[in-house]
Amino acid sequence: MNSKSLEPNCCVAYSVVVPVYNESQGIDHCVHQLIAVMESLGEPFELVFVDDGSVDPSLSILARHCAQDPRIKVISLSRNFGHQAALFAGLQHARGKAVISMDADLQHPPELVKSMVELWRQGNEVVYTVKQAAKAFSPVRRFAMWCAYSIIRRTTGLQIAFGQSDFRLLDRAVVDVISKMPEQRKFLRGLVSWVGFKQVALPYELADRYAGSSSYSYWKLFRLFFDGIFSFSIVPLRTTLVLGFLAASLALFYAVFSLTAVFLGWRVAPPGWLSTTMVVLFLGGAQLIGIGLVGEYLGRVYEETQQRPVYIVRRRIGFDALDDQR
Ligand code: UDP
Ligand code: MG
Repeated sequence: MNSKSLEPNCCVAYSVVVPVYNESQGIDHCVHQLIAVMESLGEPFELVFVDDGSVDPSLSILARHCAQDPRIKVISLSRNFGHQAALFAGLQHARGKAVISMDADLQHPPELVKSMVELWRQGNEVVYTVKQAAKAFSPVRRFAMWCAYSIIRRTTGLQIAFGQSDFRLLDRAVVDVISKMPEQRKFLRGLVSWVGFKQVALPYELADRYAGSSSYSYWKLFRLFFDGIFSFSIVPLRTTLVLGFLAASLALFYAVFSLTAVFLGWRVAPPGWLSTTMVVLFLGGAQLIGIGLVGEYLGRVYEETQQRPVYIVRRRIGFDALDDQR
């Protein structure tokens, strides 16, 4: 972020925010598709592309589009900050009365924007899309996704639908609230669900990537999953407490049983090392999990206290007063 004012003046009806990371193969097509769809709506719009530290020619291609069309704006981040941070940068710079966010690879069909706008005009303040992933993912991935969404829903209490993505429309009121959220680790799906307002779901078929390959590795997905849980829930900490109580109760029960057995002269198995090892392992494991969980939250508290910006802008192009000359 920067010191210059980013207060939106809402002079356009729609903003489309598109995070871009190494999308040079398909970005031209994306720009043309988006312009065609947005022009068909018949109201002023802007396209805000956020180059998230691409190492391919994505930025120069976008800068060229920007020079030819004043409706196109580009934010170039100083390095790769990740999809969520790039989206957040775009939201903070968008000026539309409604802000649509979508991926640059055209997996989010641009034509759907028309239906989103229609639902927004009917008074909905958040139009989130839900991908019908049946065809798009393997059964294993679908099962993993189902587990991830269910765990997030149950632990956080947020109503995040299975297959909900970052393809959505937000009313200006919602964008203003979200773009002022101070937390460092952004899980926008969670934040959008958390802020409330009038929300509606719109199903869509996930298309194949127009070009290139996904930069979301399984590790990044895993991190997003943990961000979803740890940013919105302390249930894991509570679970450890419950586990601790359970383990302690079991140990107590076992102690009482053993003592009774000794007094009554029962021939219980000699105090074998197996049972001892099991108890030690179980308690040791439970303690390590507990420490790990506390560490995870502590790490997040540490990150928040550092107050580093969520992203750093290297250059802005097409924003007039906010433009950075280079
Ligand atoms: N993206 C980004 N920064 C990153 C990774 C991805 O801005 O570090 C962008 C990418 O260019 C695309 C969107 O985020 O527009 C979604 O990324 P991708 O298609 O790789 O993810 P997937 O659709 O496979 O989940
Ligand atoms: Mg994609």
